[in-house]
Amino acid sequence: MQQQIIQVHKRYPCNHCLQTLNPHNSDPDLRMFVRCFSCGHIIHQSCYAKTRICPVCSSANLCGITLVGSLPPLKTPMRLALGFDENQSPDLRPNLYTKYIVAGIAVLFLFVCISIVIALAAITTVLPNMFPRSATASLPR
Ligand SMILES: [Zn+2]
Ligand SMILES: [Zn+2]
Repeated sequence: MQQQIIQVHKRYPCNHCLQTLNPHNSDPDLRMFVRCFSCGHIIHQSCYAKTRICPVCSSANLCGITLVGSLPPLKTPMRLALGFDENQSPDLRPNLYTKYIVAGIAVLFLFVCISIVIALAAITTVLPNMFPRSATASLPR
């Protein structure tokens, strides 16, 4: 008996197990398919073997088919956790890498500030001792 050959271009789920009908499934049991004569839905043969009826229209009139073709890669939508500020756009939220850079710059800035203060303190305290007033006073006019 010649089996009907159906080309798949999109991802369709099996209405029994909800797994994608994939002609290249890693499980050989899920590479065999049957199609309902009444509603045209395709399900796995192994799923059909469990119920013997179509999961969509409950018809018992199904026959084996051959699925060919390759499925497009599964597109998973980007899922972002809800932030503390729900009004803030997720794209504007700084990522972890940016946070580290900002923290590093802040620490560097703090170091620079502290060293400037130390340098100023050193200049104001050490310099007058290096040139005592008595020495300047004894300089010839
Ligand atoms: Zn199935
Ligand atoms: Zn059906």
